[in-house]
Amino acid sequence: MRIGFGYDVHRLTENRRLVLCGVEIPYELGLLGHSDADVAVHALMDAILGALALGDIGHLFPDSDPKYKGADSMGLLREVIGKMTESGYVLGNLDITIIAEKPKLAPYIQKMRENLAAAFGCEINRVSVKATTEEGLGLSGKGIGANAVVILSEK
Ligand code: MG
Repeated sequence: MRIGFGYDVHRLTENRRLVLCGVEIPYELGLLGHSDADVAVHALMDAILGALALGDIGHLFPDSDPKYKGADSMGLLREVIGKMTESGYVLGNLDITIIAEKPKLAPYIQKMRENLAAAFGCEINRVSVKATTEEGLGLSGKGIGANAVVILSEK
């Protein structure tokens, strides 16, 4: 088995969409970034790449490359899952914690899990997505962060 950890933060700003685990969430602010800035999927991709010791998403999908402008992070995730499969591993389970003061994410968590399970082609009980605030002490509504842990098993 191999374990990987990923962490990412993006800034909230006006005139951007808020997309988390491929779910577009209605909110007055969105996340700033070169791609669609899906911070949860970015943390997850880094966790998978970390487990495989294949570097990080900045190396794989450089933001200097115009190809990735506005990129759908779920599409990038499918590429990373392809690398996992090529390397001879399958998902054991994954656990993501999204850190956001606002908006309330609970209504969207199940759809996020379904999107990720579909990308891996795995049972939904292998996919955990949680959300927490930092009681106004951390990112304080200026951004959204995400941590991800994955366990991969040899095929
Ligand atoms: Mg990112």
